[in-house]
Amino acid sequence: MYDVERIREDFPILKRTIYGKYPLVYLDNAATTQKPRSVVEAMTDEYYNVNANVHRGVHFLSQQATDLHERSRETVRSFLNARSASEIVFTRGTTESINLVANCYAEAFMREGDEVIISEMEHHSNIVSWQLVQARKGIRLRVIPLTDEGYLDMEAYRQLFNEHTRIVSITHVSNVLGTVNPVEEIIRIAHDHDVPVLVDGAQSAPHFAVDVRKLDCDFFAFSGHKLYAPTGIGVLYGKEKWLDRIPPYMGGGEMIKTVTMEKTTYNDLPYKFEAGTPDYVASTGLARALEYVSALGMAHIEAHERDLVQYAMRRMGEIEDVHIFGPKDGRDSVISFRVGDIHHLDMGTLLDRLGIAVRTGHHCAEPLMRRLGVEGTCRASFALYNTRAEVDALVAGIERVRKMF
Ligand code: PLP
Repeated sequence: MYDVERIREDFPILKRTIYGKYPLVYLDNAATTQKPRSVVEAMTDEYYNVNANVHRGVHFLSQQATDLHERSRETVRSFLNARSASEIVFTRGTTESINLVANCYAEAFMREGDEVIISEMEHHSNIVSWQLVQARKGIRLRVIPLTDEGYLDMEAYRQLFNEHTRIVSITHVSNVLGTVNPVEEIIRIAHDHDVPVLVDGAQSAPHFAVDVRKLDCDFFAFSGHKLYAPTGIGVLYGKEKWLDRIPPYMGGGEMIKTVTMEKTTYNDLPYKFEAGTPDYVASTGLARALEYVSALGMAHIEAHERDLVQYAMRRMGEIEDVHIFGPKDGRDSVISFRVGDIHHLDMGTLLDRLGIAVRTGHHCAEPLMRRLGVEGTCRASFALYNTRAEVDALVAGIERVRKMF
């Protein structure tokens, strides 16, 4: 039994009163999720009772902190079903993971005229990272267009491959449209051309089970804070064969084996990519968050959220003059919308006054906004603790704002 009311008890912030409205209706989960007690308490406990820098100490606390940190890596490995913990690199989040791949993969395998395939629905982190490489190395960005329904144009994708294609970098789930992309098929097609694939899992890993071996992706990135874990920690999964062959991202302590003034040899995976003191307390928080969702069951979370999104699509579809962006089917926990010609900022601000948190703006996807012909949208995004009553509150709130205009 998925008992959402009991689950909500684990998230103290959901009991907050905002502008005299109780309880807060938090529908900005695609931006960041709230944290369960177990995550915050584990981190507090580590700071109070274990804290010491990892990997370098012979003393008890350092060894205990190291042990916790490495167990967290194992928890991530198991969550993604990666083959080995050495394929799990801790980063600050999806953005850093993508930048790491863009920089290091391009350094090793791309030269002027080579191409990366991305799509029109990417978050800026999966556009600008490649544009920086473009400016430095003269590579080209090839872009998969969208259909009017908000799906990737798979025929156009097939046509983009040529002898210059070196990598595909694609989002698993759109943070604006909610579209769940057919990444298995995307990967299969890329591999037929001997081209590796980076999957941006920022909006997928929190919502359904991801098995990197089943997907057969070469790289997979996600952020802890969108998955009930603290800010400042994220993950890059990479197949060993790629991580072994690409150079380090940053230099410093931890990523080396030996250093002389003339030459440095690099550490083994994954430490080669983890220069400096890692956020070892955040990795504990991430592990507790993954344990939390695993205990609920990713399949149960998925079913709960899909039900919620279908309910929200139906209820919001009844609002006069509403326009919901993105596909009707095959979508995940994000609903971007506009109502008549009400500006998204007005809608978001007035909903906020009713104690309902949604996001407004371009959602770090300006090229997609251009494709949709809008400056911005309102976005409601759902998490494992949201309820149908909150959807009703959102719909009632939108109706109220609509009437004011
Ligand atoms: N990719 C997608 C699809 C996202 O939705 C986001 C954040 O909203 C990111 C990447 C960047 O994530 P972060 O800011 O946690 O690095």
